[in-house]
Amino acid sequence: MPELKPVYKRILLKLSGESLLGKSSYGIDLETAKSIAREMKEITGLGVQVAIMIGGGNIFRGVSGTAAGMDRASADYMGLLATIMNGIALQDALEKGGVFTRHVSAIEIKAVAEPFVRRRVIRHLDKGRVVIFSAGIGSPYFTTDTAAALRALEIKAQVILKATKVDGVYTADPMVDKTAKKFSTIKYLDVIKKGLKVMDTTAISLCKDNELPIIVFNLKKKGNIKKAVLGQKVGTKIY
Ligand code: UDP
Repeated sequence: MPELKPVYKRILLKLSGESLLGKSSYGIDLETAKSIAREMKEITGLGVQVAIMIGGGNIFRGVSGTAAGMDRASADYMGLLATIMNGIALQDALEKGGVFTRHVSAIEIKAVAEPFVRRRVIRHLDKGRVVIFSAGIGSPYFTTDTAAALRALEIKAQVILKATKVDGVYTADPMVDKTAKKFSTIKYLDVIKKGLKVMDTTAISLCKDNELPIIVFNLKKKGNIKKAVLGQKVGTKIY
């Protein structure tokens, strides 16, 4: 058996709230959380340091509150709280799966999560703990994708692995347009120019300005995270 050698030492995995849905249409599917836990156990076993930015779209998105007439900032704060709930669920699943974790929230909520202290987070990672970031960057008008880019830069992650429902970036939404073609690689600027809905432009711009690559892949295909950290071809690389 050849030795499995990861090409990345530290990664930031962006999990949308939807990725916790599994087959249900609302909330958190524990089987899905368990399967993520198994994959985390495997890749931390390879010596890869992992931070996860968790989204909240399975519970609440600021834009849906705004659409219903709420003030945008208030609605976004509800969205931020949704990510903290997901963080608690994910931490529970990971710990039950034998993965050591720390939950770090950008909004102070001492009973369930630590505050964000960059050096402390790096220490957790060095000790092999999976750090779960919740509450985005702690401010309204942002997304957890932008928060993922920011934290990835702060902790010096070498790549963002962006888990989605499809296996990469397509010319159009492959769920809607059957003629849509997948890119194996694509430049940051082309994602923005073509208006591809992978991540918001703030997130892409941050990655572009700091040359932080993003790999967009399908979370539902087992083993994809491992493939990505081993440098094998998976999904689409934005560079
Ligand atoms: N949000 C925010 N600031 C942030 C990150 C998130 O206000 O830094 C709010 C925003 O309302 C967003 C919600 O939290 O709609 C959930 O995050 P997101 O939509 O990014 O979750 P995902 O799509 O990844 O599940």
